[in-house]
Amino acid sequence: MNLSEEDKKTIVDWLKEKCNNFRCVCCGLGHWDLAPDSVLLIGYDLRSTRFHYHAGIPLVGLTCKDCGHLLLFSPIVMGIKPDPPETHPSNSSPEEGSSGEE
Ligand SMILES: [Zn+2]
Repeated sequence: MNLSEEDKKTIVDWLKEKCNNFRCVCCGLGHWDLAPDSVLLIGYDLRSTRFHYHAGIPLVGLTCKDCGHLLLFSPIVMGIKPDPPETHPSNSSPEEGSSGEE
C-alpha cells in the first residue's frame, strides 16, 4: 500500500514522540528514510512449509541512509487504521424492488 501524505505525517509524528533522535544500532548515525509503501510480513507454517497469506503482519519500514539497516514498525500501533471496506450498491440490503418472498 502506498503511504499517503497523512500516513507519513502520522508515522513521523509518532516516531518523534516515541523514538526521538534514535540512532541506527549498526552505524550509530541517525539519517532515516521512510519507505514509500507499507509491506506485509506473511505467515509461514514451519511444519507444513506453507505460506499463510491471510495471517500477515502489516509493517512500515525505515532504512538507514548510511548503512542500509532496516527497521520495521507496526502501522497499527502508530495509529494507521485500514480504510473501511467499500460498499457497492449491488451489495446493499434489498430494500428496493424486492419483497423478500418469491
Ligand atoms: Zn546505519
